Amino acid sequence: MTGSTIETLDDGRGGHVHFVHTDHVNWVVLQDHSGVTLIDGGYPKQVDAVEASLREVGASPADIRGALVTHAHVDHIGGLRVLAERHGFPVYADPVEVHHVRREYLEQAGPADLAPLAWRPRVALWLLEVSRLGVLDRSGIDDAQAFPTAGELPLPGRPRPVACPGHTSGHSTYLVGDGHVLVSGDALITAHGTTALHGPQCLHKAFHHDLATNRASVQALAALDVDVILPGHGPAFHGPIADAVATALA
Ligand SMILES: [Zn+2]
Repeated sequence: MTGSTIETLDDGRGGHVHFVHTDHVNWVVLQDHSGVTLIDGGYPKQVDAVEASLREVGASPADIRGALVTHAHVDHIGGLRVLAERHGFPVYADPVEVHHVRREYLEQAGPADLAPLAWRPRVALWLLEVSRLGVLDRSGIDDAQAFPTAGELPLPGRPRPVACPGHTSGHSTYLVGDGHVLVSGDALITAHGTTALHGPQCLHKAFHHDLATNRASVQALAALDVDVILPGHGPAFHGPIADAVATALA
């Protein structure tokens, strides 16, 4: 880990969207006068980095009114689980994904899925690094809840879920920042430790529960009026989402 960088955007209504980008995974902090919404929360061993990122934007875990999950993979809910145990805020997910978050089932690539890739030096190094971050932790968040309402959520930053299944069955993206910014989770990313490719892309097929469904969901995102994408992995993308989708699906 070489640490993290934070990119801050105005949300168009007096608040801010903070994109926390680390070497292996990202999370997002929505901040307004009513407090903070956290979207995803890194690997289990990144919980202190999540807390540090909140302090860096002038907030604290006590300001979290609720957390959202794009999907229930360990690199997105691991740190969040520990943080929620420490500070007792509610964790919400898509009504399908909430069962995955609770670990009623698991749709995540395991060692057997990744074995065919592990001969690649880049993948082997990635496995070593994410092992240190707790990639093998299978814990869920037992008291995760489905979204309390349809449409815009009554949380700081007013995020609006956009279902985007495929990477996992209940994967969700979120429109934030007045609807022009999309938190895309792992449906559409811009870089990953297992590949040298940079720019909009979909993860290697070994990481998707349902590759074809993910492609169809990503295609549908192209119709959104979005010009900033904050992915689960890799730097932010600034430009028309239709361009990012075309590149990722090419
Ligand atoms: Zn991920």
